[in-house]
Amino acid sequence: MKQIKKGLQILFALGILCVANIFHLEAQTSKFPWPEGKKMALSLSFDDARKSNLELGIPLLNNYGIKATFFVLPSAVQANIGAWKEAIAAGHEIGNHSIIHPCSGNFPWARDKAIENYTLDRMQNELILANEQIRDLLGVTPLVYAYPCGQTFVGKGEFTQSLVPMVSSMFLAGRGAGNEVASDPFFVDLAQVTGMGMDEKSFKDILPLIESAQKNGQWLVLVGHDTKESGSQATYLNMLSELGAYINDPANGIWSAPIGTIAQYVKSAREAVSDTVNNPQLVRISSNGQLRLTAENGKGIGPEIKYMPDWRAFGWFTSKDKVVWDVDVPSGGVYEVWLEWSVSDEEAGKEFLLQAGDQSLKGIVDKSGSWETFKKKSIGKIPLKSGYVQIEFKPAVHFEEEALLDLKEITLKKVD
Ligand SMILES: [Zn+2]
Repeated sequence: MKQIKKGLQILFALGILCVANIFHLEAQTSKFPWPEGKKMALSLSFDDARKSNLELGIPLLNNYGIKATFFVLPSAVQANIGAWKEAIAAGHEIGNHSIIHPCSGNFPWARDKAIENYTLDRMQNELILANEQIRDLLGVTPLVYAYPCGQTFVGKGEFTQSLVPMVSSMFLAGRGAGNEVASDPFFVDLAQVTGMGMDEKSFKDILPLIESAQKNGQWLVLVGHDTKESGSQATYLNMLSELGAYINDPANGIWSAPIGTIAQYVKSAREAVSDTVNNPQLVRISSNGQLRLTAENGKGIGPEIKYMPDWRAFGWFTSKDKVVWDVDVPSGGVYEVWLEWSVSDEEAGKEFLLQAGDQSLKGIVDKSGSWETFKKKSIGKIPLKSGYVQIEFKPAVHFEEEALLDLKEITLKKVD
């Protein structure tokens, strides 16, 4: 849109209020709303219910008031049920880490329980059983799962199947291991939260991961096993102490909590802001059978175009700008196209082009009444093949120093 024009009008009318609004807008588009203005989230997690967690790790974490997630096998907690119950009472979270810890048969110790020889239903039965046994032993039902060895599949070759859909339906979150990046709270699949190793590392090794997460507003999940002074597969106690002090310094802006707590927060916060944040992602058929190409899930490309959260639309749409969506068309056929837009009467009337693969649709941007008035109408029909297609909306003609329209949504509805 000619936001300059509109912005100036509002500025004249409202004075300083308009400036405040601009800051509000920028905050919404770039930063995830972590609680109390924190810069990042951090979860500490420990796998396999090692004895050293009870003896050394948990007392140390308790000293710093840090609550962690422990991914356990029922067989491993059985010997120390009282101590694990105390850990739960102190605020630590218990997660599911399967019944017998299947991993790739490339690990010699896992050859007789190789995940390549598993099927989805065997895995599902064992995860249900692990949840039941943990509930019976410790009185809590896990909301979170850690993929043993970080492996998110069962089977081999053409029979390989992903565990992710099942974990997504059974748990609030699934955590990986050995990943190379922290999770972006706007983007991350909660069934594939990334996990980065903290075993056998000094605080100096860990600090760059934290600094990167602070800078990018991410959720860093650290993965350890034993908690000891030294040794293999161990998170070192001196590293944990330095980390604890660093977390507790308010100047560092870290929200530290168990994985389930942060996953729940991310889920709720994302739902609350989803219709005011531009987060380009694959468009799939919605529950009412429509393909909704919104300003929130599209990507603005060009010199001027901007997503405007207060209008939930793309504006600043010059002749060199366009919006692009990645779309998964579930079934081929003719689709009716609906456009939701606004434009001032003076700038209405320019030709637009909707391009979907080798198909295209042209039309004229009709008057909507004003930049502030959005209208929705059918702009024609377009045939689409099933499968992936990139859909573009852009001006069909060149024009100088004017705007095409403000674009809120293109909706595709199958007609036959
Ligand atoms: Zn493990």
